[in-house]
Amino acid sequence: MRAEPPPYQPPAEVSPGIFLVPIPIPIPLRYVNCYLLRGPSGWTLVDTGFHDSLAEAAWPRALAHLAIRAQDIKQIVLTHYHPDHVGAAGWLQQLTGAPAFLPETEMEQFHRFWADGTGAMAERLQALFLGEGMDEATASALRRHHLQQVERVRPLPELRPLAIDSRIAMGDGTYEVIWTPGHSDGLAVFWDARRSILLANDMLLSGITPNVSVWPGSRPNPLADYLASLRRVAALGARLALPGHRALIRDVAGRAREILAHHAERLARVTDAAAASPGGATAWEICRRIFPVDGLTLHQVRFAMAETLAHLVYLCREGRLRKEGMRYLRA
Ligand SMILES: [Zn+2]
Repeated sequence: MRAEPPPYQPPAEVSPGIFLVPIPIPIPLRYVNCYLLRGPSGWTLVDTGFHDSLAEAAWPRALAHLAIRAQDIKQIVLTHYHPDHVGAAGWLQQLTGAPAFLPETEMEQFHRFWADGTGAMAERLQALFLGEGMDEATASALRRHHLQQVERVRPLPELRPLAIDSRIAMGDGTYEVIWTPGHSDGLAVFWDARRSILLANDMLLSGITPNVSVWPGSRPNPLADYLASLRRVAALGARLALPGHRALIRDVAGRAREILAHHAERLARVTDAAAASPGGATAWEICRRIFPVDGLTLHQVRFAMAETLAHLVYLCREGRLRKEGMRYLRA
C-alpha cells in the first residue's frame, strides 16, 4: 500500500539569496531538498526531484512563489546521478532553456543507469543480487523496480560535464566543485569558502545516514571512499551544510563524526552477522539479519542489500572477513 504523497511546501530562504525548495518524492524520504540561488545574472537551480506528477506540480508553484519566470533560470546544476536529484532535469531544461551541468565524475553513471535504453543495468542488478544469495522473486522484482526508476528520468537532459576542482558561480557565491565519492561514485559537493556554506546534497544528511552501496560496475570500495570523503568534508570547517534531504546541518564536523561512528558500529554488526553461523552467510542472509527487510518497500530492500554489500566488500578488503563461494566468513 502506498502512503499519501507528501504535501507541497513553499520555498524558504535558508541563507541570504539561497532558497530551499522541498520537492515531494514518492519514496519514504518524502522530499528532496532542491535549491534556488539568486545571483546578479539570474537564478541557479540545484537538483530537481523525480520527473513525475509531484515535481510537475511543485516546481511551477515554487517558481511563482518567488516570482521567478522560467527564463530567469540561467543554469541547472545537478549534484549526483541519483534519480530523485536528476529525474526532472530534462523537463526543467525544456521549460527554462537553461544548460544543465553534472560533475564530470558522474557522467558515466548517468549514462549507464538512465540513458542506456537497453535495460542492461536492470539485468546486471538482478544478476549481482542473485549471485549474492537473494531469492529469485525478490531479485526479479528489483529488476522491474529499476526499469520504473528509468521512466522517472525522462526526458533525458542534455548534460554538460562540470570539471572537478573548478569553480562555478551560483547566486552571489563562487563554489569550488569538490569530488567526494561514496554515496555515489562521482558525487560532488559545492563549497563557498567565503561564506562558509557547503552545498552537501546527499554527502551529509541529518537524522539518517546517506546510503553507501555497491552497484554493478561501481568503484571497488564505495564505503572506503565515503569514509575518506567524510573526513575531507569535516575538515572544511563549514558553518552551514545544505543537505539533499531533511534538516539543515549547522554542526558539520560533528555530524560527520557521528556518521563515521555509525559505520564503525555497522561494520562490527555485519562482521558478527557473518560469523553467527559456522559456515558463514550470504550477503542476502546478512542483509536480512541487519535490516528487517520484510517491512521494507522494494526501494528500501534494494538499498539495504546494496549497502550490506558495501560493508562486506570493505570488510573483505580490510582482511576482517573472507568470501568463499557466495558465503562470507570471519577471516
Ligand atoms: Zn542520492
